[in-house]
Amino acid sequence: MLMYNIDFELAGIAISIVILVFVLIQNVNTESVREYKKVIIFNLLAALFDSITVVFYTYPTLVPIWFNYLVNSLGFIFGFGEAYAVLNYSIVFIEAREKKKAANWIKICNNSAFIVYSLLYAINAFVPIIFSIDENGVYSRVGIYPIVYVSPAVYIFLTAVFLFVKRRFLTWKQTFTAIFFAFVTISGMALQFLFFKDVFLTYFFSSVAILSLSFSLETPDYVILTKTMKELTEAKEEAERATNAKDIFLANMSHEIRTPLNAIIGLDEIILRDSRDEQTKQHAKDIKMAGSSLLSIINQILDFSKIESGKMEIFLAEYSTSDLFYEVVNMTKLKAITKNIKYNIDVDPNLPEMLIGDELRIRQVLLNLINNAIKYTKDGSVDVKVTFSKVTRIRKENVPHVEMQISIKDTGIGIREEDMNRLFQSFTRLEESKNRNIEGTGLGLVLSKQLIDLMDGELTVNSEYQKGSEFVVKLTQKVVSEKGIGDLSEAFRRTSEKVEIYEPTLYAPKAEILIVDDNEMNLSVMSDLLETTKIRMDLCQSGLECIDKCKKRKYDVVLLDMMMPELDGVDTLKKLREEHICDGTPVVVLTADAVVGARESYIMMGFDDYLSKPVKYAELEEALKKFLPKDKLLDINEAKKDKEKEKSSIVVVSESTDALKEHKSKLKDYKATFVHDKDKAVKYMEKHDVDFVMIDAKEFNQKEAEE
Ligand code: ADP
Repeated sequence: MLMYNIDFELAGIAISIVILVFVLIQNVNTESVREYKKVIIFNLLAALFDSITVVFYTYPTLVPIWFNYLVNSLGFIFGFGEAYAVLNYSIVFIEAREKKKAANWIKICNNSAFIVYSLLYAINAFVPIIFSIDENGVYSRVGIYPIVYVSPAVYIFLTAVFLFVKRRFLTWKQTFTAIFFAFVTISGMALQFLFFKDVFLTYFFSSVAILSLSFSLETPDYVILTKTMKELTEAKEEAERATNAKDIFLANMSHEIRTPLNAIIGLDEIILRDSRDEQTKQHAKDIKMAGSSLLSIINQILDFSKIESGKMEIFLAEYSTSDLFYEVVNMTKLKAITKNIKYNIDVDPNLPEMLIGDELRIRQVLLNLINNAIKYTKDGSVDVKVTFSKVTRIRKENVPHVEMQISIKDTGIGIREEDMNRLFQSFTRLEESKNRNIEGTGLGLVLSKQLIDLMDGELTVNSEYQKGSEFVVKLTQKVVSEKGIGDLSEAFRRTSEKVEIYEPTLYAPKAEILIVDDNEMNLSVMSDLLETTKIRMDLCQSGLECIDKCKKRKYDVVLLDMMMPELDGVDTLKKLREEHICDGTPVVVLTADAVVGARESYIMMGFDDYLSKPVKYAELEEALKKFLPKDKLLDINEAKKDKEKEKSSIVVVSESTDALKEHKSKLKDYKATFVHDKDKAVKYMEKHDVDFVMIDAKEFNQKEAEE
């Protein structure tokens, strides 16, 4: 009969052997499994040596005393060796998830504790400081015996601190397993210490705890799991490569679209500035609005990739609801008119004029929904109705909010019940064969839905096949002021007037600049934009030409396009600076790259400033004012005087008052004098500088003949 009951411990040994065999059969050679095997082996050895000591206590004369000491000490060493291995296992486990090596402090603590404890037990064989065994094999606790409890406590503490610090790398299942592991192990020790002094329980419980790891973290399907994970990583890398290619494609596309758009917006700005005809001006205003919306859509295409990669953000700013609806209507009405569809918009006059939200995104969603309504309606009507309700409390903020409800209802083709759930799938178009002639990508609705979700709103659909559909957007927005939008047509008129026409204020006829762009159209837009400034402009179409020109002449400013064949903007600038060709001349980069942070990166590259294409006159003027020498910047009033001076002086001679009147209206822009006969003309010419004389030929010939 043994002195202590080791039945549980033997069961623990059996469990450990089974787990070990099981893990060995799996034949997985990851770092984490290697450490796990060490935990099992330490546990197995500790239980084994613990059990053997019991045999030796019972039969003290069986072995020499030093052997008894050795077995006892090894039992202890393997015991905290297990704790040491558990901490190592945790470190490796986290390292694999964090994808970087763990901090040194934890490894140093772990190794130090193991060395210190091992040394203490080694000393104990010669000088009993923890336990002693007398000649009769009687075991007694001496000196620093409590170290037996301190060592696991220190390890549990270290492991707990480490896992707590790294908790963000653990799933709830892994956290639960760690807690369960600690709980079972500690329970074993506590039960033995407090209640069952004669029954060895510790290693049975720790074997169970290790078994729990096998079920949860080191699952039997681990091989498949690791294989799948490897495949997943490869698939992820492949997907990342594809995304990268897509990003490059989108950036190139955006550049390709922006280049002609640059010409459209630039030339339109010139029409807006120079035209005196109200009708033309109105058209130009509409082009301006459509152009800027098109531009923002291009930016949004770039943003679409952002949504997919989860990088999309919502930017909140104040916006005018009447501007929003004006633009939306303006950009969609033409389509409805050409299709002969009735298009109505009804906005609650009390809807606050100023709200806070992401206007760009809301506009994008509305444009998509309204365009769809018009697209998928053959005849009948599209009705947009905007209502709102006050929200009393929202997210504890004490700011007034409204829930705006925008309904877009059409009498179009409708959507079949069974197609409803495919509606918001990307690249999905319903009844493809029937709607082949209607252009579309099947992306609009997904994007709208995702944007609305990002804005914490709601997008719902109601549709009856072949009768029509209703899309409803609900959005909660902060209110800037309670003042309502009022009468819609009046609000739209105000907005239309607001579309600014920039009055140039730059006049620098003595300044000289170089504009470099491989696209001829862009060059002509830039030079037309700067016409009124009278700046002397040199134009060229490549980086090499630019370098050549800069060698020959000192310009006040160089405006350099970024994307050019052969030598691009960056390389051209590099050459200019390296070869000290135009030191001190500011170089402003022109680029279609409108990504956030572009300005900073161009300035880092050495450019003095950055202008995003399509170049807006106001921004161009601001940049030039900043960089042109101050003495070359003249007062804009000088321009008017110079213009006056520049006007050609004409004398028009005609007997007919009607003819004179007609000439007068045609020669508005000239300094013209109108007289009825030659004598008066001669008299006038004696006193003034005259460039031209226009004589009504018919009357002149008649008179000559009479005379
Ligand atoms: P698309 O570019 O094809 O219009 P969307 O994502 O905007 O892509 O819409 C997806 C599909 O949903 C469309 O192809 C069309 O079949 C259907 N759909 C969208 N709006 C309507 C509508 N107002 N009436 C009927 N069908 C619609």
